[in-house]
Amino acid sequence: MMEQTTRILSDLIAYPTVSADSNLEMIAYLANRLEDCGARVDVMFDAGGQKANLFATLGPDTDGGIVLSGHSDVVPVTDQDWTSDPFTMEERDGRLYGRGTCDMKGFIAATLAMAPEFAEQISRRPVHFAFTYDEEVGCIGAGHLVQALRERELKPRLALIGEPTSMRVVEGHKGCHEYSTRFQGLEGHGSDPGRGVNAVEYAARYVSRLLDLRGDLQQRTPPDSRFDPPWTTLNIGALNGGSAHNVIASKAQVDWEMRPVQPSDADHVKETMARYCRDTLLPAMQAIYPEASIETEVVGEVAGLTPSTQNEARELMADLLGSNAAELVPFGTEAGLFQELGMDVVVCGPGSIAQAHKADEYLSLDQLSQCLTVLNRLAGRLAD
Ligand SMILES: [Zn+2]
Repeated sequence: MMEQTTRILSDLIAYPTVSADSNLEMIAYLANRLEDCGARVDVMFDAGGQKANLFATLGPDTDGGIVLSGHSDVVPVTDQDWTSDPFTMEERDGRLYGRGTCDMKGFIAATLAMAPEFAEQISRRPVHFAFTYDEEVGCIGAGHLVQALRERELKPRLALIGEPTSMRVVEGHKGCHEYSTRFQGLEGHGSDPGRGVNAVEYAARYVSRLLDLRGDLQQRTPPDSRFDPPWTTLNIGALNGGSAHNVIASKAQVDWEMRPVQPSDADHVKETMARYCRDTLLPAMQAIYPEASIETEVVGEVAGLTPSTQNEARELMADLLGSNAAELVPFGTEAGLFQELGMDVVVCGPGSIAQAHKADEYLSLDQLSQCLTVLNRLAGRLAD
């Protein structure tokens, strides 16, 4: 099985599926292999037709069962100093080197190598394969995939997201929401501030209101939160605007983010800020200049994975791994999107996040073999 897996992985690494580029060739390869094992394969294209998600099913067309999920895209290699060609997999000292080996084509290769085994063992509950695009740029593909499942009213019970966790079970991470808020005011001479609308000043008031919300968010900390810090955080990453000392600034931009520990915190922040703009800032700006505006662009809203006392996916993995340990991690994944659909979800996959996104990214053969062992035990479960 190991030989088969490394052969598939080597094929996958050769597709340079950097998020900016098409992933269609790799998706076609995955579709072929899954069809060969008798899976029903659905390739769902994005609006531009250059990228696609793949969703495939082995077993009955029913609710329940498990989704094995991985993203097909990788981060760029630009300005990274690689020892060997990042898109030609190389084995050295018990490690497989190449862009995407650990994040996260290793997991995808393992599920593909195991697919014939799953097909043979499967009885009452389906196994689904979900391979997405554009994870590295805000989980865009997974958002579309989850939407498609919702429309199809398909309700898998469990999801395993194979992001690199060194094969440890991860049951929670914060969300990551990023925004750019742009202020359009009216330029004028600095000697008469009342004749213009100073975008920088309104941006400063906006920032100040955001910072006030930090207190709210701390008070809203869930009592049993295991996150560090335990509450939803807010950060102002950049504040730009204006041109000179004596000019009323007509433009300003605030780049900010929050890391919600629960979806309701994100709603609270968004609603409070929208109300503040609508009831306070905008009326004041537009009283002087009717075209004045405040617009917030959603750069990305990656849902968190909220830990829960009841989690069948965690229990299943505890069984397969022979350990009850489950952790929280500081990085985001597609897991929260699957959780929003009502599935029990854990993140667990081969390789360490410490190697992801770096030059000389690698996956150790030992990690890959642990992953295969777990998938093999999972195949055994499919028989009942
Ligand atoms: Zn990843």
